[in-house]
Amino acid sequence: REWCVALPKVELHAHLNGSVRNSTLLELAKQLGDKGVIVFEDVKDVIMKNSRSPLECFKLFDLFHILTTDHDTVTRIAKEVVEDFAAENVVYLEIRTTPKNNAAKGMTKMSYINAVIKGLKAVEAVDVVLFDSNLRTNETLSCTPMIELDDDTKKKKIYVGLLLSIDRRETTSAALDTVNLAMEMKDQGVIGIDLSGNPVVGEWETYLPALQHAKELGIPITIHCGEVPNRKEIQAVLDFCPQRVGHVCCLNDEEWKQLKSITIPVEICLTSNVMTGGAPSLEMHHFADLFNAKHPLSLCTDDSGLFSTSLSNEYYLVAATFGLSKSELFQLAQDAVQFVFADGEVKKSLRRIFKVAEKRLM
Ligand code: 5GP
Repeated sequence: REWCVALPKVELHAHLNGSVRNSTLLELAKQLGDKGVIVFEDVKDVIMKNSRSPLECFKLFDLFHILTTDHDTVTRIAKEVVEDFAAENVVYLEIRTTPKNNAAKGMTKMSYINAVIKGLKAVEAVDVVLFDSNLRTNETLSCTPMIELDDDTKKKKIYVGLLLSIDRRETTSAALDTVNLAMEMKDQGVIGIDLSGNPVVGEWETYLPALQHAKELGIPITIHCGEVPNRKEIQAVLDFCPQRVGHVCCLNDEEWKQLKSITIPVEICLTSNVMTGGAPSLEMHHFADLFNAKHPLSLCTDDSGLFSTSLSNEYYLVAATFGLSKSELFQLAQDAVQFVFADGEVKKSLRRIFKVAEKRLM
């Protein structure tokens, strides 16, 4: 396990509100309980519950949003989430979140994302590097010495990019607003678009105009695909051919064949899939099939808070369940660099980080 923590890692699928520490959720619930907005004891039981159905998860997100959706709290959780990933030696993090309008809190989609960015900038434990326009890093970054992971005297560095999520409950026009916001904020660390939310809610046709618009604007896209066996939508996602897909739990043989033939990189979320029933067990998870087929894939946490996991733990689980060696794990972590939405400069820096780490870990 310690080796998996020491391994530099790339996280490509992490939802902000699903990655919040339980201790923070409990503290926020206590505050709202004291104000009489919620009943603390009820909420505490829900937060601490271990296994959940998909429906319970999405209900829980609605609760999380009650707890977290004001500017200061959004800033706080963004800061803590980055600190937690950095503590696990995640060296590159794409954090995704749904921009939220909340008139009661004076919140717009843009002010929500600004609050997230404020949180990223408030991190002190490590240097956080956001990307600038054209998805490239800025001048200062290029001049900054690379971190040497075996040199304790240098402050650690984490590259962070933001993906804006379209929630499946949203209308076409709300989804378009999110894509336009991503374009507007590309100089401030926003590097892509995600489609997520309850997979049994909404229709592909509703989001397609926004996703098409993002594609035309050259914004990289990742899509939650096949969390439920919705044949029509899985086919539409594969035909749309986004830069990456998440989950791919419920693909039939034909769809599986198509996914493999077009080699779209897959964000694999082991614990999340097992805990929500997307995969029958760790042993029977489709990771093994994709790994054996040398399909491009990357291990991810999905919702590290909600599912009480970490990226190091996901690597450990792969080793423990499928018998991967240290060198296979290292290769898996390093290969994820190819699938990041950041551009060449960041990729080059990441490759150097892995090179230095290889000497130390292998
Ligand atoms: P947020 O976007 O509020 O920062 O993070 C929570 C949101 O991410 C949830 O409300 C939901 O829309 C989305 N989400 C988190 N985990 C999952 C998942 O496993 N599957 C899907 N489809 N959406 C998810």
